Amino acid sequence: MTFKSLGLSAPLLQAVQKKKYTVPSPIQEKAIPVILEGKDILASAQTGTGKTAGFTLPLLQRITEQSRWKRRPLRALVLTPTRELAAQVYENVQEYSLFTDIRSTVIFGGVNANPQIKTLKQGVDVLVATPGRLLDLHGQKALSLSKIEILVLDEADRMLDMGFLRDIKKIIGLLPAQRQNLLFSATFSKEIRALAHNILKDPVSVETAPENTAAERVEQQIYRVDKNRKTDLTAKLISEGDWHQVLVFTRTKHGANRLSKKLEKKGISSAAIHGDKSQNARTKALAGFKDNSIRVLVATDIAARGLDIPLLPHVINYELPNVPEDYVHRIGRTGRAGAEGEAISLVSLDEVEYLRGIEKLLGEKLPHNTAEGFELTETKESVKEAKEKAQQNRTRRKSRKTDGSLDSRKTGSKKRTFPKSRNGRVSSRR
Ligand code: AMP
Repeated sequence: MTFKSLGLSAPLLQAVQKKKYTVPSPIQEKAIPVILEGKDILASAQTGTGKTAGFTLPLLQRITEQSRWKRRPLRALVLTPTRELAAQVYENVQEYSLFTDIRSTVIFGGVNANPQIKTLKQGVDVLVATPGRLLDLHGQKALSLSKIEILVLDEADRMLDMGFLRDIKKIIGLLPAQRQNLLFSATFSKEIRALAHNILKDPVSVETAPENTAAERVEQQIYRVDKNRKTDLTAKLISEGDWHQVLVFTRTKHGANRLSKKLEKKGISSAAIHGDKSQNARTKALAGFKDNSIRVLVATDIAARGLDIPLLPHVINYELPNVPEDYVHRIGRTGRAGAEGEAISLVSLDEVEYLRGIEKLLGEKLPHNTAEGFELTETKESVKEAKEKAQQNRTRRKSRKTDGSLDSRKTGSKKRTFPKSRNGRVSSRR
């Protein structure tokens, strides 16, 4: 099978050639001809399968074929859950439309809207957007959706997980009734099926991998380890394995920051990426990770969706996700486009239930491994004790904050400490 035999036009074939893709991926093989025919599709595809080209190439072809507008109204809309995915899809749209006269742009929150509004005013055919910023700019009359011919919902499952259902419904209400709809999702919950039922007209189902199965090329391993030894084990695996591009997942934003700092202290260059980081910080961290100046990227699930890092060799689940499907998304970050990958999960005693959930979803037991000196010593009792202690500390800190610290500040009883310089004199911190 070649790209040409799928019916793609010369300018698009030229772009594909420039990207050095030799054969279409399975999702491209199945989706491209159906989209070219103008049909709606419901596609099951994980990131890393080439799904972006799978919808972008035929979408570009369709809007060039039917180019009848003098002024350029927005004609195709791609909705994505995250800023990173929006930026990535937009980059792809630009690359694939290089030899056409199609104009595209991207809009997402967290950055100044003015340049986005200015670009939209100049006339754009294809818009890639996150739902919030799209509605925001529509509310400001900076764009119109009344001439949209093709709608793409990319990573629809994640959009629902992130609470975008209402926004999506609002956006659909702003589109013309007559249009082509393409829905891509890695997993198919009841909610996704309901959304598909409402939006799609006689859709063709396109499936490339069985639902909810982990990527085949990824070697998965479990290390049972005490909670308080996870950082050391992470550092050991990275150092001894001489790994240079490692994506590490934590469950919380604080956890991501903490781990990133600890790894830095151990001499492993690292950056955290999550929803509280500014767009600039996220872009910088990702760029550093891609050019190998940052060895470890510590991310939360939401931030990691949409990261396009080709040939990512290692993923570590520092903590297991409490939603089993997120495990599938996480390990989908490795073993991309033909490359082999390794996904390691560090599982402490309190995460055993999560592991069971994941194994149930995958329909297989995951292989266990041990690292010398990191054998599990936790017991149910010790975990309970540690939890109680942590709770006590939290309560103590809270009560200190609400009354103690105020009093001590008033009376000046709380000691302020300054680092001592080498000659013993006290210096103030800047
Ligand atoms: P995606 O699933 O769209 O995020 O694509 C994953 C990666 O595969 C991206 O780096 C694409 O550039 C790459 N890719 C897409 N299609 C092909 C293809 N037919 N051959 C080789 N690589 C591809």
